[in-house]
Amino acid sequence: MKHFPIFLAVEGRRIVLSGGGDAALAKLRLLMKTEARLTVFATDPAPDIRDWAAAGRLTLIERAMQPGDALCAALFYGADEDPAEDARTAAIAHADGALVNIVDNLHDSQFITPAIVDRDPVVVAIGTEGAAPVLARAIKKDLEDRLPPVLGTLARIGKAFRARVEALPFGAPRRAFWSDYYFAAGPRALNTGGEGALDDTLATLLTDHLNAAPKPGRVEFVGAGPGDPELLTLKARRALHEADVVIHDRLVSAEILELVRREATLIDAGKEGFGKSMAQGDIDALIVEHGTRGAHVVRLKSGDPTVFGRLDEEIEAVEAAGLAWSIVPGITAASAAVAGIGQSLTRRGRNASVRFITGHDTKGFADHDWATLAQPGEVAAIYMGKRSARFFQGRLLMHGADPATPVTVIENASRPDQRVIATTLSELEPTLTRAALTGPALTLFGLAPRAAAKLNVLPDHGGEHEPEKSIQEAFA
Ligand code: SAH
Repeated sequence: MKHFPIFLAVEGRRIVLSGGGDAALAKLRLLMKTEARLTVFATDPAPDIRDWAAAGRLTLIERAMQPGDALCAALFYGADEDPAEDARTAAIAHADGALVNIVDNLHDSQFITPAIVDRDPVVVAIGTEGAAPVLARAIKKDLEDRLPPVLGTLARIGKAFRARVEALPFGAPRRAFWSDYYFAAGPRALNTGGEGALDDTLATLLTDHLNAAPKPGRVEFVGAGPGDPELLTLKARRALHEADVVIHDRLVSAEILELVRREATLIDAGKEGFGKSMAQGDIDALIVEHGTRGAHVVRLKSGDPTVFGRLDEEIEAVEAAGLAWSIVPGITAASAAVAGIGQSLTRRGRNASVRFITGHDTKGFADHDWATLAQPGEVAAIYMGKRSARFFQGRLLMHGADPATPVTVIENASRPDQRVIATTLSELEPTLTRAALTGPALTLFGLAPRAAAKLNVLPDHGGEHEPEKSIQEAFA
């Protein structure tokens, strides 16, 4: 972000503009919506500007700007549409201490004016840092259509009622009240009784909400997917949008946490393997504590919550506390990883089953049915397999697996920094250690990236799936 959006208090402050033509008119129409004191310097002002001055809406001074003219001004607009004059007036305004904007000159402006959707006191400002004014206009139009004109009236009258709503407990109950007002009771009252009916509506609504039985809390166990926010389900998005409390794992990506409602409490339960983490019992207790207080708790887990997510322990704790709960599935790392190498997890004639296995269990490196896995054509997705790579490499070789069996490690699957390390069982270590992975990684045993696999079988035939750079490197 090169420009930080803020709303500047301009009530009673000076805003100075130099210019009297079309650019000046456009800016003034916008500025006259504010409660600032406007001063315009123009040698040849358009008739509208003269009219506005006569009506007392601005002060018009019919001469070119001079040093000192922008003293005490909060903002200055250079709108002469003449680069030399704009540079001259901007220098004066700058020296006088005002923040400077030159119309249609992003480079020399200290601030920019966004496209505005005005439902005062609700104001939406849209900025594209000058990159795409067309886009800003399209977004503005979309919002203009979507935000009912009565919104401003509802907000203005609602604002005066805010203090009384503090009688309701903070969080969900207050939100429920306002959502009722803005989206149901308020518009209804406006329609039938007009603005005058809103005060009574607010009072009745508050009594109703104060008397309503408190809503019991509930817990949603939500899959955040492998990291790409576009791989969230619509249900997961909705949950993030509605939650009062979000308790998340360390592996949940920052982009996804961005989607959590701003007012929600965000708690990092950081359960990444080997890292600093909260004990499982503490996490269970935290979920229960917030749920019992009536909160809508989202327990956000990377990938799919039902895969290596210690889900059952948490469900048991939530059930014991008598809280309602549900599961929102997500895309598991194995699905994202296999998509990243253009392969499928099962394939007719190759493998009719696939295993999701973990490199670790509570006792350390996890044991599995190595003899079966060592058979040709077997495919396994190994979670938490970085440190245990040498262990399962040894076990599989010992049980007769072909040393040339392809093994592909996908780090940060689905994320912009995804890396693919294609190797074989016999080379897995030291290849993996040398790769010095820092992100979460999934190991696909029995699968090579499609492009690389084709290279082995059909050396002359290029794949449709663009090979990853790192695959090419790995096979160079
Ligand atoms: N519930 C999760 C798995 C949690 S266990 C899921 O369904 O994906 C944590 C392990 O998942 C990590 O050690 C890693 O092996 C794997 N993992 C999670 N996100 C990943 C990603 N974006 N890329 C690669 N592996 C990932």
